[in-house]
Amino acid sequence: MAYASNLSAMHRLLHTTLKLGDRVRLRKPHPCGAQEWEVVRLGTDVKLKCVGCGHLVVIPRSKLTGSLREILPPEGRSE
Ligand SMILES: [Zn+2]
Repeated sequence: MAYASNLSAMHRLLHTTLKLGDRVRLRKPHPCGAQEWEVVRLGTDVKLKCVGCGHLVVIPRSKLTGSLREILPPEGRSE
């Protein structure tokens, strides 16, 4: 099933490539309208900051995996 293998790929992404400063898209946009979150802390829990309004949320990694849609390149990484 394409969907299942996609989720599995997301699991691996989370454990291998998620870094501080990365931006992620979740399945549900924040009520403020923004769809992107910036990773501000990594650990057992992941702390995300809404790029739209600056709201901070802490999500257990396992839960984040389920709601993650996409990992975007960090802003300004090349500068
Ligand atoms: Zn927001």
